[in-house]
Amino acid sequence: MTDFVDSFEDEDPFDSAGLRLTVDLTALTENWKEMARRSGRARAAAVVKADAYGTGIEDAGEALYLAGARDFFVATADEGVTLRPYAPDARIFVLSGIWPGTERKFFGYDLVPVISSEEQLAFWMAVLADYGDHPCALHIDTGFNRLGLSMDDAIALADDVSRPASFAPVLIMSHLTCGDDHSSEMNRQQLESFRQVSAAYEGIASSLAASAGVFLGSDYHFDLTRPGITLYGGEAVQGMKNPMRPVVTAEARIIQVRTVTAGQFVSYGRALQLTRDSRLAVVSAGYADGYLRSQSSGGVPLRQVVPQGGQGFLAGRKVPIAGRITMDLTIFDVTDIPENAVRAGDYVELFGKNVLVDDVARSAGTIGYEILTSIGLRHERRYLVEEE
Ligand SMILES: *Cc1c(COP(=O)(O)O)cnc(C)c1O
Repeated sequence: MTDFVDSFEDEDPFDSAGLRLTVDLTALTENWKEMARRSGRARAAAVVKADAYGTGIEDAGEALYLAGARDFFVATADEGVTLRPYAPDARIFVLSGIWPGTERKFFGYDLVPVISSEEQLAFWMAVLADYGDHPCALHIDTGFNRLGLSMDDAIALADDVSRPASFAPVLIMSHLTCGDDHSSEMNRQQLESFRQVSAAYEGIASSLAASAGVFLGSDYHFDLTRPGITLYGGEAVQGMKNPMRPVVTAEARIIQVRTVTAGQFVSYGRALQLTRDSRLAVVSAGYADGYLRSQSSGGVPLRQVVPQGGQGFLAGRKVPIAGRITMDLTIFDVTDIPENAVRAGDYVELFGKNVLVDDVARSAGTIGYEILTSIGLRHERRYLVEEE
């Protein structure tokens, strides 16, 4: 048994993986530089929550750090702890804030909690009394109604002379609800509200724009922008041509190619009936891998609203999904690919340069963010860096 295992030691698991992801770190850092350029005089942070949108927080975080990013946003303290060795002297903001029992992570790894409620604020004051000085950020709600201190509480806090000297916010932030829709009146309203709060905190850096907000123009940039999805190549603004480079390519291996005659049905629920003699490629990725079932060509409610199901890319052409996506397997119709150009062992691109992640999202009834962060643990990942 040992010999058997040893003899495979030299093989690269990437070459035989059922599902493999290629992350282009050069495209990632170019995208960050592009967002930094578009942020004008503001500094650009890098949002690396959810394992850097599924690309791997260690490698993505280090590449962004080496490209010059010095402000990072993560969702949880654990993500901050993971990132710290790769971004040694960077500021790491934790969006979900601090919770009893997590103090040591903040102080030991120099993480900055984003305080977003009166309860967290009270807890933070108590922590400062026990542990000593430490920076924090304040999240103020300007209309999202997700997290954040109310405007009134935030302004009262700014004017409160009795607050302890160890309470030292280094950033005032808020988040846009409709940044992806540039025609929305809400953007202006939130901008006006945020200006009021940031004026109350004169001398402290402020931040309003995520990716979409950067494209709203310099009024929205303040001192720090917080791009996430654009770094990973996704669309931030509805109806705008996406200027970012694709970063992630997902490919699934073909396990079997089968020939099926016209009139037969494919996959669960007989959701697709073939109208011609067909060749079908069965690949090693399904909804358990985050390849969302709602992309199925038929037999899912979404097809009544968005007629077109998902597509893959193989041998220079797009190939449609055939029938329902299953837990571990997806079937593609490869009838239009020359017979000698498709074989078991080949890989079908699920998304990447030829099938954009946002097109996958549209046929799944969701957004690129969900596609990127849904590709779970059952894959091999490789990183690419372009030669200078
Ligand atoms: C996720 C998040 C971001 C990044 O948003 P993108 O749309 O991915 O650029 C910025 N700020 C906050 C508060 C977030 O939660």
